[in-house]
Formats: sequence, structure tokens, C-alpha cells
Amino acid sequence: MGKSTSDPMEPSRTRVVIWFRNDLRVHDNACVARAAALRASGAEVVPVFVFDPTFFKTSKRGVARLGAARAKFALESVEDLKTTLKALGSDLLVRVGESEDVVAELTLTGANERTIVLTQTEVTSEETDMDVRAEKKCKAVARTGGGDARFERIWGSTLYHIDDLPFELSDLPDVFTPFRNKVESKCEVRGLIPSPSNGALGSVPTSAGNFEWFPKPSDLPFATPKLAQDCAALISNGVDERRAMDFKGGESQALARVKYYLWESKLLQTYFETRNGMLGGDYSTKLAPWLALGCVSPRYVVSEIRKYESEIMENKSTYWVIFELIWRDFYKFFALKYGNKIFHLHGTCSNRSAAWREDDAALKAWKSGMTGYPLIDANMRELKNTGFMSNRGRQNVASWLALDAGVDWRHGADWFEHYLLDYDTASNWGNWCAAAGMTGGRINKFNIVKQTKDYDPQGEYIRHWVPELKDVPAAHIADPSQMPRDLRDKINLNYPNKIKLPQRSYTEFGSTPGPKRGGGRGGGRGGRTAGRGGGKNAPKHRARAASIYESIYG
Ligand SMILES: Cc1cc2nc3c(=O)[nH]c(=O)nc-3n(C[C@H](O)[C@H](O)[C@H](O)COP(=O)(O)OP(=O)(O)OC[C@H]3O[C@@H](n4cnc5c(N)ncnc54)[C@H](O)[C@@H]3O)c2cc1C
Repeated sequence: MGKSTSDPMEPSRTRVVIWFRNDLRVHDNACVARAAALRASGAEVVPVFVFDPTFFKTSKRGVARLGAARAKFALESVEDLKTTLKALGSDLLVRVGESEDVVAELTLTGANERTIVLTQTEVTSEETDMDVRAEKKCKAVARTGGGDARFERIWGSTLYHIDDLPFELSDLPDVFTPFRNKVESKCEVRGLIPSPSNGALGSVPTSAGNFEWFPKPSDLPFATPKLAQDCAALISNGVDERRAMDFKGGESQALARVKYYLWESKLLQTYFETRNGMLGGDYSTKLAPWLALGCVSPRYVVSEIRKYESEIMENKSTYWVIFELIWRDFYKFFALKYGNKIFHLHGTCSNRSAAWREDDAALKAWKSGMTGYPLIDANMRELKNTGFMSNRGRQNVASWLALDAGVDWRHGADWFEHYLLDYDTASNWGNWCAAAGMTGGRINKFNIVKQTKDYDPQGEYIRHWVPELKDVPAAHIADPSQMPRDLRDKINLNYPNKIKLPQRSYTEFGSTPGPKRGGGRGGGRGGRTAGRGGGKNAPKHRARAASIYESIYG
């Protein structure tokens, strides 16, 4: 819709491009609200989503970055957004290609025409570089015909707004607890941005592109054709029925999950007690996949929790979900502070190093769930078959790969990036870097057998994913290698022996392990962290260890 004006300085036509990326929703979305305001003063609005090949590439370590299940979830999320926008009288242009090219193609070039691109601010370099390139190209294209273009990057992915942080980003605490204390005591979570009303974005200018087109898996720029086939198969046949729950992408599904977890099932009020579970859909919120793509806003989740607290009840559990969402914020700001260091082998710490190894056999066994450690194998099989793994599982498998096997932890982060439905660059790489001890915080080396006894004492979760162990009695499920020979023979056990691990000591990190400490999220939750080692040399190393084991986790 053009705006006629007699002022020669005013553009004759303004186009607003909402470049959706990891904010696939209309509720509490600052870009959408800004577009509606610009529309009210006469602009036309073109919402667009781009499947950019950058995110489908193969990593430096040879793993296709975007797997079939994650792509399915993204397709569903984009489709749901399109449906919602259509219901509002607008639409969503969906394209496959380099983002900068697509955004440039949407740029108006006529003299006295203006294009405004609205996009959510990203925190990691690939994304921020992408929008710098898009902005440059968009401006160049606009100039060719004497037009004008500008970008507005709008913050929107965290619970606490970046502008409200009570410190400069360079002063962001490197450990979680001081960060949480500061934001909780000095910042308010901002109110929700109202959703657009019907017609608020106007109708789309159909000349901007083919709004009828929607990609099939075979249209996506997967690293291999097989992934497109796998994605299509997941769409038609569904995900492995042993899955924790049926994750379907999209804002409407995300809002339904919030409604279920809080209001229908009231699971919220027992979260603190159940959050270390591994089996089923109910032990935790399972909101991460939707949060990662922005199908739900963390502020919306917290506003619903606050409502629940005032209408039904407030307890440690209701608070603890908010606590976890602050972890999510922490890693976003941490990524912003440290830039590409979170992707580097030696991470963000300058005073610690470790001898990382390449060990194809251990890595292969880890990836395929054949390490001989039932807890590791069950979790890795769940990830591969469903795209999800509990937080408890993630901590254990990360500890095993990085600290027990000593394998370059970035292989693990790559694998998670491929499979995790909730893959989020800052959360994944930040958590991996921390799990590997490379953020400088406390090193949480988990004793896998003890963790099994603590969190899956009867082996229900393990048997769910490792059917070879179905006849192993609970007393031996944590470590079947310790089973008496006659029992092994009796049940005809067909399960790998524990893979041989290197003798690897903490001195590689500059110290030996410190005393056990209680842990929050991201490390050992609820103070059940299993410290390991110590031995006869421990006392003399303790003092030195103290600084190294200063807790990042709380
Ligand atoms: C090695 C490793 C890799 C991880 N990779 C990711 C990732 O790519 N994306 C991701 O969202 N989470 C990641 N996590 C964090 C955490 O395991 C998941 O957020 C959680 O298991 C998702 O399940 P949920 O939604 O039921 O979480 P809940 O237990 O219900 O927690 C609620 C929400 O809080 C946030 N949250 C909780 N713990 C963390 C944490 N440690 N770091 C950041 N946010 C957190 C998530 O948004 C989560 O949805 C990783 C953890 C580890 C140890």
C-alpha cells in the first residue's frame, strides 16, 4: 500500500520486510509489533522466512549440521507461522537460498522508495555476519534506482532485555550464580508485547514473490540427499514411537504445551522434584525446541508462570522453571560476550588447557550408543532416534565424551547440533564448552555408574532404549560388565564390553579434582554431582584446585 504525500523528502512507498529467523511467532514479537506500527502509517509488510544453506552445511569435523528431525520441526514451525499470518490477513513468503539474496530481492529500488528490514538481533557470528551482508546488499540494491534501505535489529530472544542488564556486557559474570543474582535483584522482566490484531499487518503485495510455494524436504539444501529422504519419511511415518513425546513445531503447538504443562496437568508445581527424569514427556517442560526457534517467547512462559503463582500456587517448582530460563539467558549473553571463543577447543578460559584426543573408536561408539556404559548408550540412542535427550542425559554423555574419553568435545557439540530439536547455538556450544571444563568454571566429571544408580536405579530408562539389557537385573543394570559370568551366560548377554578409556587425569587441566560441591543446572543439578578421583594425592592438590573448581554452576 503506497502513501501519497506532497513532501518530496517523504518516500512514496515504504516496504517493511519482517525477516523471521529464530522468532517464529506473532505473540510477544517486537519485529511484528514494529511492522504493525509502520503499516499503520502506510507501509506494506512482507513477512519472509529463508531456509539458508549455511545452516545445512557440513561442519569442519564432517557432520551435516542440520539433520532430518530438526528440519521437520523447522518446516512445521514455519508452516504454522504462515497459517497464523494468513489468519491475520497477511502471509509468509518462504524461500530457500542465501538470506542476503532473498532480502535483497525484496528491496524496493524505485527513486523515493524505502525498504525497512526488521529482524531479531542474533548473538553468534554466523547469524550476525549474515545480517551484515544482507544489509549491505539490500542498501546497494536500493541505491541502484535511487531508493533507500535500512535495517532494524530488534532484541527479542531472552527473558531479560539486553538493555536492562545491570552491567556492561564486558562485565557479564563468567559464572551463573552472580549473573542470576544480579539480574534477579536489579532487572524486571518486561511486559509482553501485544499480538497484532486482525489486519494489522495488511495484506501482502503479491508481486513480492510466490506466496503459494512451500518447500518439501527435497527442496531443502541438505548436506546429503539421504537426509531429505529421512526427513520426508519422518513426516509421513512419524518419529520413533519410543519418543518422550511427539514434538511438532509451531507457535500454536508451543502455546498448547505451555497450557498443558501449567494449566491442564499442573506439572509445573512438581517440576523441581521431577526435572532430573529421563523417561516420558512429563518430567520437564519440553519447551526447549519451541524456545529455540522462537515459537514461544520466554517472557510469555514466565508471564504464565506468574499468573499460575497468583491463581493456583507458588512453590520452589514454579520458581525453578524461571531459574532454568535464566540459564538460557546466561548462555545467550555469554555467547555475545565471548564471540567465537565458545566454538574453540580451548574455549573461553585462558588459564586452563587439556590434551584433547581424536579417538575414532570411542567417538563412533558414543554416537551409536555402543560404549558399553548403559546410561550413555540409552541416551545416545534416544537422541539419534528422536532428536531429544533430557538434561540429565546431556550432562552425562558430555562428561563421558569430553572428560572420560578425552575426545575433542566439539565432535559432541556437532553431533548435538545435527540431532537436537532444541538446538540453539548459544545454549549448545555454551553448555558443551562448560561441560568440557573450557569456560573456566567447575569441572563436573560424572561417575556414570553412580549417576545410573541415582537417576535410573531400576533401569527402566535404560531398558527402554537398550533392549539387549532387558533381562539384566536392576542390581547390575548400571554396569553389566560386573555381572557374574554364570548370570551373563544364562541371559545370553549380547552387549558390548565397556570401551577402553585412556588414563586421563585432571592434571591435564592444571589440577586434580576438588571437593564435591552442590550444583545447579548446566552442571550437576541438585547437589548430586559425583566427583571422581582424589586418591592419595588429593589433599596436596586441593588448595590449587579450589580456584579451578570455583563453581560456574552455583
Ligand atoms: C551438553 C549440553 C548441550 C545442551 N544443548 C542445548 C541446546 O542446544 N538447546 C537448549 O535449549 N538447551 C540445551 N541444553 C540445556 C538443557 O539440557 C535443555 O535446555 C533441556 O534439557 C531441554 O529440556 P526442557 O525444555 O524439558 O527443559 P526444562 O528442564 O523444562 O527447562 C526449561 C527451559 O530452561 C532452559 N534451560 C534449562 N537448562 C538450560 C541450560 N543448561 N542451558 C540453557 N538453557 C537451559 C531451556 O530453554 C528449557 O526449555 C544443553 C545442555 C547440555 C548439558
